[in-house]
Amino acid sequence: MEDSDDFLRLILDSIAENITVIDERGDICFVNHSWSQFGSDNDCLVVQDWSKVNYLSVCDSAALAGDEFGALAGRGIKSVIDQKEAYFNLEYPCHSNNEQRWFIMRVSPFKLNEAHFFVISHQDVTERKLAEKAVEKLARRDGLTNIYNRRAFDEILSEQWQQCLTLKQPISLAVIDLDHFKLLNDTYGHQTGDDCLIAVSTLLKNFARRTGDVCARYGGEEFAVIWSYTTLLEALVLSKALLEEIRQLKIPNERSPIAPYMTASIGLVEMTPNRILETRDLIAQADDLLYQAKESGRNKVSSLIIVPSSAVENQN
Ligand code: GH3
Ligand code: MG
Ligand code: MG
Repeated sequence: MEDSDDFLRLILDSIAENITVIDERGDICFVNHSWSQFGSDNDCLVVQDWSKVNYLSVCDSAALAGDEFGALAGRGIKSVIDQKEAYFNLEYPCHSNNEQRWFIMRVSPFKLNEAHFFVISHQDVTERKLAEKAVEKLARRDGLTNIYNRRAFDEILSEQWQQCLTLKQPISLAVIDLDHFKLLNDTYGHQTGDDCLIAVSTLLKNFARRTGDVCARYGGEEFAVIWSYTTLLEALVLSKALLEEIRQLKIPNERSPIAPYMTASIGLVEMTPNRILETRDLIAQADDLLYQAKESGRNKVSSLIIVPSSAVENQN
């Protein structure tokens, strides 16, 4: 019994992986039960009678229809058939209308009576992929406020900078720092300080609603807002409104020499990206302006437009 074809087929049919075997031309010689099931469930490849199918042609058709993974799969299988590669692995998305799914395709060769065959298996890796995506998402968020963290901010700023460079559009960056926050912490405790940071981040989200707007916790009690495709004039209106809303929270900071409630200062800069300027210039300028706002009395916006040949300064 254990030597019989039936026995081996039953084993292959009980495996959750979708398995097919093709010959050197790409013609399908064998499929297991999971494969047949996959074929009928799958929105990517809908084929009923696998025994008449050439797998390479299926990949080519998918590639012609614009499926980049069809093209990659076809190239990978051919590289194993032509013995350019010992085996081939490809992770690819295969989403249906109501479900996100990812698979790994593996191609490995074997030889029987001088003929070459190739096992192609597809393993569902959706659970692992979703877990990875959840971790990736968490890694981009600040643990306290749940807005983007510094790492995500740096990545997004580079993307937005590139967009504005391509579209020849201005980009404005505000760096916001809470005034005398150490005093607030020392007076009311660290937990109250944490609650303030959460309250400010909730406000910030309302100031970053359009496409190309992003708010982030830049570090400690410092936040940043990217306003892409936005001039200094528009960003200044938003920055002043933000400072006003922070004041209106009326969070007590009675020992602050500025006001008996929490205030903030902003360094705001507008640049139109070019080949000479870099994102670090934008950040450095915003930091300098924040320093100026602090030095000149806090609870205000210091702003500047950087134009390629000259700079136009503005104190508010
Ligand atoms: P300035 O007006 O010059 O900005 O004064 P400041 O007191 O706000 O600045 P300083 O840099 O002296 O102090 C920042 C304080 O922010 C000190 C630090 O304990 C507090 N801080 C940083 N991160 C957190 C946090 O996650 N939670 C709380 N509660 N406090 C924090
Ligand atoms: Mg501060
Ligand atoms: Mg600070």
